[in-house]
Parts: sequence; C-alpha cells; structure tokens
Amino acid sequence: MDVENKKFDVIVVGTGPGGATVAKELSGKGQRVLILEWGPGGPVRGTLRQYVLEQCIPGKSLFITGQMVGMVRGIATGGSSLFYYATAFPVPHAMLAKYGIDVTQEEREIRKEVPIAPLKDAMMTPMAKKIMKAAQALGYEWKKLDKFMYQDRWQPRFKFGYYGDPHGVKWSSRMFIDDAVKTGAELLNKARVMKVIFNGRKAVGVEFKIKGKLHRAFAPKIVISAGGIGSAVILRASGVKEAGYNFFYDPLITVCGRVKTPRKLKCEIPMSAGCLMAEEGYVMTDMAVPAIIDKTVFALGAFRFWRLFESGRTLRIMIKARDGLSGRITDSGGVRKALTEADKAKLRDGYRRATEILEKAGARGIYRTTYLAAHPGGTVKIGQILDSNLKVKKFENLWVCDCSVIPEPWGLPPTLTLLALAKRLSKQLSVEKKLPLKSKAKVKTKTKAKTKTVKR
Ligand SMILES: Cc1cc2nc3c(=O)[nH]c(=O)nc-3n(C[C@H](O)[C@H](O)[C@H](O)COP(=O)(O)OP(=O)(O)OC[C@H]3O[C@@H](n4cnc5c(N)ncnc54)[C@H](O)[C@@H]3O)c2cc1C
Repeated sequence: MDVENKKFDVIVVGTGPGGATVAKELSGKGQRVLILEWGPGGPVRGTLRQYVLEQCIPGKSLFITGQMVGMVRGIATGGSSLFYYATAFPVPHAMLAKYGIDVTQEEREIRKEVPIAPLKDAMMTPMAKKIMKAAQALGYEWKKLDKFMYQDRWQPRFKFGYYGDPHGVKWSSRMFIDDAVKTGAELLNKARVMKVIFNGRKAVGVEFKIKGKLHRAFAPKIVISAGGIGSAVILRASGVKEAGYNFFYDPLITVCGRVKTPRKLKCEIPMSAGCLMAEEGYVMTDMAVPAIIDKTVFALGAFRFWRLFESGRTLRIMIKARDGLSGRITDSGGVRKALTEADKAKLRDGYRRATEILEKAGARGIYRTTYLAAHPGGTVKIGQILDSNLKVKKFENLWVCDCSVIPEPWGLPPTLTLLALAKRLSKQLSVEKKLPLKSKAKVKTKTKAKTKTVKR
C-alpha cells in the first residue's frame, strides 16, 4: 500500500454525497485526488446480504441509543446514499445565508448534473396514491416529492434500491466516485482514517488503517467527509475536541394501518409524496419498505406479532421531526442522545394527523412503530468549528464537507444541500494552484496585477 510516497493535491476522506462531489470536481479539474473510504467498493448487487454487511453492523453502521432509537449509516463506497430513499428536499438557503453562505448557483448546477424530479405517474405506487388522495381530501398540501432517480431507466419490474440499486435508476454518490476514478482519482477501500497529521497548525496528511495496519498519506489539502458521526470522530482524534456535541439526528416514527385489499409490494418506491408541516417541525411522507423490514423492524419492533403477514395490506406514513441539538458522539463513534419531550410531542402530533389520513384512506388497526433516526448531523458546525468556507478554524488546509457541517436543527433529508455545499467547496479548492509538493519549492503564482514569486 504505497501511497505514502505518492504525490497528491487533495485527500478526500469518505465517499458520501459530500466527499464524492469534491473528489469528482477536483479530479475532473486535473487535481491528483486520493479518496480514502472505510467501506468496501465491490459491485452494487442490491442484495440483503450486501445491505446487512454495509449498513447493519452494530457499532459500525447500526447504532441503538439508550432510549432504543435505532439509526443506520452506510459504510461503503457511496456512503449512506447507496441505501437512501433518494428524496430531494429544498436547500435551506435562509439558514445558510445567516452564516454567509450562498449556494443558489451551485444548486442550479447540481440540478443539471443529477436527476431530480417528481416521479412520473407510472412510478407512483398504489399506496402512495391512496395516501395522497386521502390527505388532499383532508386539506393537506400533500404533493409529489422530488426524487434522485433516472426515471427513463426505470422498468416496472425493478425493485427500489433499498439494498443498493444494481440497475442504476436511483442516483447515489457512488456514481460521482466512478466519475472521479475515471478522471484519475485513486480510491482506496477498506481504509479507515484515524486522524489528521499536522505540521504545526497546518494539516499535511492523514493516518489510516487497512486490515489493522497503519498507513499514512500526504497532501496539501485535506477534506474530511466521513459523515455526521465519522467526521466528528476523526476531528476529535485530531485535536478538535469540541467536535461531536449537540447534534441532530432527525428522529422518525412510521404509522401503519391495515386496508382490505392487498397490493403487490415488490416494486414500491418510498417517500414519493408528502407534506411539510414547517411550523409544527415535521414532515409526513408515504413509506414503503421491503417486507422483511416491515416484519422485523416494524411489526415485531412494535410487538404486533399478528401483523407479521400483512405487509401487502399495510399503508404507512413516516413522520420525521426536527429535533433539538443535544447529545454527544463518543470518541469511538458511539451515539449518545436522548429524545426530549419537545421532540416526542412533534412526533405525537404527526401520529395524530397520520392516523386521521390513514383512516380517511380506509385503514384500520392503526399503530406506530418504535423511534428510528436517519440523518446524524451538526456535529462539526459551520460558525462554531468551521468558517463559512467549511475550513476548520483552528487549522490550515483542513476542510469538512458532509452532514456534520449543518449549523442548526433542520429535520429534512440533506443530500441536495450537501451536494451544493460540496460543489461550492470544490470551486474554492480548485482555485488554489496545484502544488509541486516539494517542501520548499519556489512556485510562481500569477495574480491579475502582477506575477510574483512566493515560497511554500
Ligand atoms: C435509510 C436512509 C434513507 C435516507 N433517505 C434519504 C433521502 O431520501 N434523501 C436524503 O437527502 N437523504 C436521505 N438519507 C440521508 C443521506 O443518505 C445522508 O444524509 C447522506 O448520505 C449524508 O452524506 P454524508 O456525505 O454526510 O455522509 P455519508 O453518506 O454517511 O458518507 C460518509 C462516508 O464516510 C465513510 N467513512 C466514515 N468514517 C470513515 C473513516 N474513519 N475513514 C474513511 N471513511 C469513513 C463512510 O463509509 C461513508 O462512505 C437517508 C439515510 C438513510 C440511512
């Protein structure tokens, strides 16, 4: 594994939407990019086995808090986006503007590069249609949501890629990593970054482990994109002790009801329509899940043994709330966070409304599932640990770009926002010249006004 003696312009840690965008953009502009990814990178098979190995390993990709809130993340090339539900929610421009960040142009650019649109009618499943009709009849602004999907590639027989999408209908950041590799980026899988290496206050490289063996790699620009949990762990090990506190994780419940007529489950797409209750602080969407998850996580998790064989007759609405900032990530990556009474009250209110909608849709025997959480973030906040350019304030040459940077509670799926932020960061990083990587090399930099010689 001799990357220690290779020259790179940038090291990117993690291949979720944040890291993959930076890697693709910079590699596409001719920078020498090393991508270090903890997870594997084999073909996307879309099998339960792959899902379990890459998203359900306790302590690594599956977390259960003291209150039994379950949370998963993808440890694989593509990060959580390999297994996500591919719903694009609007970028919180007003929130970002408070921190001096404007990504309107970058959002426009991303919307041209990535497929983002509401589902065509043929892709809307009977459950989604039924729930939407009932919600609208009750006066809710329940509408189709934008999806990250190549709808022209879709065929009615294709399963949704809950376990990864081998058909490439669902966009994931693995596609950006493939692009980065095509333009010359080097990807190392099963490389778990432990900490950043500094020379004084300057980040100069990272230490990482492959199969328990320690390696090092060096570059003048280091971008940590290891996700809401992973980035906090790396930064704390690197001396940024304040990372990993007071975060959000967008808790959710699912409300289930039984209808008389069974439907085909195989190809259902989740979160295809919904309603944002902005003031109340939560969002409601239809929620299809594979039968195995319906049985194990939902029916058994809620002690509804008699509902085990009713997946095809169950309508589901997910309630995802904007939780307050609290809790801590432990040094080894454990998640410690309790739901507050205010968080629970939001979910209860959502439960009440979802019950009303499901009843209107003809469902009976309504129950709610246990708490889950989906998007840990805000562990390395802009304004606190990072400046508005996503640079770690304490150190030079070190940036963070993933869900950990979001500075405030938000409660909505973050992928589109992360893509736009990463695009903005890539522009800033690509302005900086490629360096020859000789410690005291003299390089010529041109400014508009004059050419000058500087030492680096
Ligand atoms: C079931 C589920 C459904 C979701 N649905 C949606 C949705 O519909 N819409 C939406 O916008 N969002 C959704 N999300 C959330 C979304 O997937 C994530 O918010 C998003 O992927 C976060 O991107 P990220 O770049 O912050 O981190 P991640 O995607 O978590 O990527 C982090 C990467 O870093 C790697 N890594 C971690 N630690 C290390 C280390 N020490 N060394 C090297 N590599 C490391 C990981 O393996 C991973 O590849 C969903 C999430 C889940 C779990």
